[in-house]
Amino acid sequence: MIDQSLAQPAQPAPPAPPAPPAPPARKETRADRALTLYVEHAETIALSFRAGTYKVPSGTSTAVYSVRLVPTPYCSCRDFHAGPLGECKHVSAVRVVRKATPPCAGCGRRFFHRELVEAGDGHLTFFAGDMLCPECAVAHGVL
Ligand SMILES: [Zn+2]
Ligand SMILES: [Zn+2]
Repeated sequence: MIDQSLAQPAQPAPPAPPAPPAPPARKETRADRALTLYVEHAETIALSFRAGTYKVPSGTSTAVYSVRLVPTPYCSCRDFHAGPLGECKHVSAVRVVRKATPPCAGCGRRFFHRELVEAGDGHLTFFAGDMLCPECAVAHGVL
């Protein structure tokens, strides 16, 4: 449609332009890969938390790595030990997951925001605004 003639003003709106071509390949950053890992495996990673350690699936193989953040970040993958920064995509992914999973005010286990229940006013054990997991909410009469 190069000739947008003025003689045809009632023309229906042109179809949406095709999606732009993918941008030229750019080097994927660690943050990108961590985000991909997080989106695909956030739930798995969050639920794997035991005794300070998360299990993080490899983005590229069937391997699963052990990651912890304290006292210092650690990952069992090769990148982590080869890299100079003491950081890898698995550690990055765990940081993202932790931000998305605050601890329950009752039991201290971590949950996704959507699973937590907010304690209301006038509760004897919790402050208004405290977030509880469903189990604790039931146990303490918040639900
Ligand atoms: Zn790693
Ligand atoms: Zn709880």
